[in-house]
Amino acid sequence: MNRVYNFSAGPSMLPLPVLEKAQKELLSYGDSGMSVMELSHRSALFTEIITEAEQLIRQVMEIPDNYKVLFMQGGASQQFSMVPMNLLVKSKKADFVNTGSWSKKAISEAKKFGDVRVIASSEDENFTYIPKVDQGMINPEADYVHITTNNTIEGTAFSEIPDTGDVPLVADMSSNILSEQIDVSKFGLIYAGAQKNIGPAGLTVVIIREDLIGQASETCPAMLNYKTFSDSGSLYNTPPTFSIYMAKLVFEWINDLGGLKEMERINREKAQILYDYIEASDLFDSPVNKESRSIMNIPFIIPNRDLDAEFIKEAKASGLETLKGHRSVGGMRASIYNAMPIEGVKELVAFMKEFESKH
Ligand SMILES: *Cc1c(COP(=O)(O)O)cnc(C)c1O
Repeated sequence: MNRVYNFSAGPSMLPLPVLEKAQKELLSYGDSGMSVMELSHRSALFTEIITEAEQLIRQVMEIPDNYKVLFMQGGASQQFSMVPMNLLVKSKKADFVNTGSWSKKAISEAKKFGDVRVIASSEDENFTYIPKVDQGMINPEADYVHITTNNTIEGTAFSEIPDTGDVPLVADMSSNILSEQIDVSKFGLIYAGAQKNIGPAGLTVVIIREDLIGQASETCPAMLNYKTFSDSGSLYNTPPTFSIYMAKLVFEWINDLGGLKEMERINREKAQILYDYIEASDLFDSPVNKESRSIMNIPFIIPNRDLDAEFIKEAKASGLETLKGHRSVGGMRASIYNAMPIEGVKELVAFMKEFESKH
């Protein structure tokens, strides 16, 4: 069997040791004689899995005790509505930073529930940079400030988390959660769809400060209320059990590797290899402002030449998959999440060098 280097933006690669462990345990978890997929979510074995998953993510991200970890469904996209349904309830005003396609979707959903103001945007330059955000721009009465820490499509990321003072900071961290060390206490709420850095699609992780739970109106549907998940330990109804199990294996893998400090070191090294080559290359270019570059999603273009289709086709033939850029940006994009080994990045650069020499 030949595994390829998959540069997909999501769902994306999973660490090979995680897949192998899941394969080994697939038919019978422990000595249960059942697959995790067949276990009752109320069974002792699954209780152990979800409890360990929570303990591991708490340990790896150093999540303070006054935060809850919720395992939900609906993807980051459902959080675009859940966040305002639960938090946009006091002044009904929220401040958003618009840094790309996902921010825009979050903004348009929040507008259905209250008064949304965009306090900073990089739309003027096609989202190729991260705008400055300082505390003076923030409405002190806002229920929250929302940012997208890593812009999956545009390839930008906040290098510094804005200080929002007493106004809770909400972050869509779908494409860079667990990729580097962050100070969770700077945030009121963090959410992430699992399919980039956590595990298989179907699971959504929410990390929420306790005082922000329980503010939703009485008419808020149970399944859209954080309190429901918090009160039940994410077991109000059947959770995505297999995805939670896989996420647990991924958290274990990160922990065994040396935690987020080591994960970040590896991720920075991988990104550096690719950016250094793009900088030195006469064929390829980065469309993203240097200070705003993501270490997870790296778009690159071939200016003034019509070579994208050829590049993508030949790369695929060499075992380098899913390098096509998002349709809104064009060109190419290499998503190099946690599970992408450094060898994959080195092979990509070697392929790019060869392609450049031929053109
Ligand atoms: C992928 C992605 C989303 C959408 O996630 P779903 O789980 O498909 O809803 C939202 N925000 C960001 C930053 C993403 O990368």
